[in-house]
Amino acid sequence: MGFSLGQWARELGRWVPPAALAHAGQPAALFFHGVEAHTEDPRVQTNHHEVAQFRAILEGLRDFDVLPLDTLDEVLAHPDKHGRSVFLMSDDGYRNTLTVAADLLDEFRMPWTLFVSTAHIGTGTPNPVFLARLFFFYAPPGTYTLPHLGMVILGNEESREKSALSGIERLRFLPGEQAQATLAAMRDAFAPDALEALAARFASEKFLDWNEVRALAGRGVTIGAHADSHWPMHAGQSLAWLTQQAAGAKARIETEIGPCRFFAYPFGNKRDVGVGAWKAVRDAGFSHGFTTLSGTLAAGGNPYLLPRYGLGPRDTHIASLVPLLFTGNPRLRRWQASIG
Ligand SMILES: [Zn+2]
Repeated sequence: MGFSLGQWARELGRWVPPAALAHAGQPAALFFHGVEAHTEDPRVQTNHHEVAQFRAILEGLRDFDVLPLDTLDEVLAHPDKHGRSVFLMSDDGYRNTLTVAADLLDEFRMPWTLFVSTAHIGTGTPNPVFLARLFFFYAPPGTYTLPHLGMVILGNEESREKSALSGIERLRFLPGEQAQATLAAMRDAFAPDALEALAARFASEKFLDWNEVRALAGRGVTIGAHADSHWPMHAGQSLAWLTQQAAGAKARIETEIGPCRFFAYPFGNKRDVGVGAWKAVRDAGFSHGFTTLSGTLAAGGNPYLLPRYGLGPRDTHIASLVPLLFTGNPRLRRWQASIG
């Protein structure tokens, strides 16, 4: 697959002294998922920073102006005046954003936005990728025939790694309804109750409930929508599916919390967001949509296809990294134009 631009900025940022870049900034949006005191199995808990890593990122962000997302219109209108402005965001709605991350962010006095996938809030429905990882790494050894994926052989550790990599990549680009059937078959690979017992070992993957989302909103956290189901809104999805993901999520948040005008696409990379996706987000009445393509908020273009940088676990040299994000802007603009 090669190096993505985000990875390139990540690597280069390790070698450039922050002082050299202090005046080169452009405003940017950064996101993380969860923060966890302890990771038991990094193969399945792929979305979480450990506390020390997260604290190091926040230390690095002290050099920036971390702003609440309701200032986004002003920042987009005058990016030249916001060279050190950063928006901090968390995706999905994991419970550890309340029990771990929120206290750290309060300690650093940094405002943030939580994008929740509404179908997972308070329902016990796991993130489909987590469920797929449990299947690939923990299902009993054997040969499985899965709808829409075909034959999968689970044997030794190495074969499971390979199957997980290719299987999740293919699963992700199935139409939503087909993926549901594949996931149901993955569930059936486990004995009754075994999957629930296994999933319970990974507390990091537990989602918030609505009372907990309200508690975060009460602490000043902006609540945005991360679709209804945590699944890509790619070009293979039906209009009905896309409308539910955008308008359905907005309606649920507005019933439970209050006005909601920001959206972030699940997965959010080029192949995860089709023309129909950003139009569904626009038509639902959101003001802005965030992707996961690297870039800065000075890039201009479609407000429903804004760039965002995903913070990796080792991104502790953040002061050098953020000023390099502008290098992603040409690729972002080309993509925006191609799905305009
Ligand atoms: Zn997500």
